[in-house]
Amino acid sequence: MLDFTTNEIKERSALRVNPAKTCQPVGAMYAALGVHKCLPHSHGSQGCCAFHRMFLTRHFKDPAMASSSSFTEGASVFGGGSNLKVASKNIFDIYKPDIIAVHTTCLSETIGDDLNALITDIEIPEGKYMVHCNTPSYNGSHITGFSNMISGFINYLSVKTDKKSDKVCVFPGFVNPGDMREYKRLLTKLKVPFTMLPDTSGVMDSPMTGKFEMYPKGGTKIDDIKQLGECKNSIALGKFASEPSGEVLKRKCGVEPINLPLPMGVDATDKFIMTLQELSKEEVPSDIEEERGQLVDIMIDIHPYTYGKKVAIYGDPDTVLGIAAFALELGMIPKYMITGTPGGAFERLGKELLNRYAMEDCVVKVESDLFELHQWMKNDPVDLMIGGTHGKAVARAEGIPLVRMGFPIIDRYIHSYQPLVGYRGAIRMAELITNAIMDYQDSHCDEKDLEMVM
Ligand code: SF4
Repeated sequence: MLDFTTNEIKERSALRVNPAKTCQPVGAMYAALGVHKCLPHSHGSQGCCAFHRMFLTRHFKDPAMASSSSFTEGASVFGGGSNLKVASKNIFDIYKPDIIAVHTTCLSETIGDDLNALITDIEIPEGKYMVHCNTPSYNGSHITGFSNMISGFINYLSVKTDKKSDKVCVFPGFVNPGDMREYKRLLTKLKVPFTMLPDTSGVMDSPMTGKFEMYPKGGTKIDDIKQLGECKNSIALGKFASEPSGEVLKRKCGVEPINLPLPMGVDATDKFIMTLQELSKEEVPSDIEEERGQLVDIMIDIHPYTYGKKVAIYGDPDTVLGIAAFALELGMIPKYMITGTPGGAFERLGKELLNRYAMEDCVVKVESDLFELHQWMKNDPVDLMIGGTHGKAVARAEGIPLVRMGFPIIDRYIHSYQPLVGYRGAIRMAELITNAIMDYQDSHCDEKDLEMVM
């Protein structure tokens, strides 16, 4: 951008346009919805809470239940302590959750509300719980908030013990309910007993029963969170969304974490499956091997379409790295990889991935935005984009296909039911990518060519 004082063109640093992220409480709310009979509570103004609920509802097409401390001018000046006190009484009386998970907002953080002290002062009914985490949205992103909320549950509830069980604690990363179901299927097939925290399957993809359920059947049970200290290991899937929670569980309860990337694509899924195999000492079931074989077969079939295609990938850091790894396995060139979530490890991991395939001239940038990505694409175009809905205008302006993966996807349906993780998830990614490329080719070839492929 132009610096008017010196007339020099400088890199834009203080302003983000169409950032590839959203605010911390969105992630905290999503994590809290993954605990059974938990009501997420937004400690701030009603507007924040409405925005966070709307954001989740538009992606999952399921209602995101949450309450608010409903700050007005008084709370903004004198602090939100009394609001939280009244809110907690009303919530336990009227909505009857087993646990309230409070996250802060920019306003309560700016005032400096001490949630630890406030919650200690609140009379919590027998057998009920209140936990909290801090989610100031002027740093981090929804991924930070997601991770902070999981750590909040561990800090309040998990207990250190000498007793050890066969269970592993799985931190799934910021993924869809469809992905969580796929993890559970694989864990069950490999006979690994587990607790997954959070687990939004059965909550954000709950079936229509004809009866309103404030708290659907799904979600991690409170007792299971308390017993996380007994787990022999934790598996943290995703550097950004899960590793911090693995560290918190280790610090608090001495549970050793196994850190893995999101199991997206062949290599990362192999690592996940082999880790489960080592933990359970069971044979990998033949149907999982068959799925892997099918995936490899599909990759060979589609290779003529995907090989050498340049792609711009944007979104959450763990997801972008996972998609990029699979794109490389398909012979594609991840020309641009960006995330809005801070964390220097993104650039390091992205470059390591590119080096493995001797890829040069690719850009990996943290704390970037879609406006910046569009500028790069103007100078050096790509064949397709992969990411959430917010890249739609850029793809349309450049006349290239957009493959919707990640978060948020607000202009398509059913995506949150379908996994992107595991071999099955990779088959789905392969289908989405290949069909987008072929649709584009169909719509850009002339009549004669079209006849030839029919
Ligand atoms: S004020 Fe802060 S917490 Fe509220 S919606 Fe905006 S960024 Fe999110």
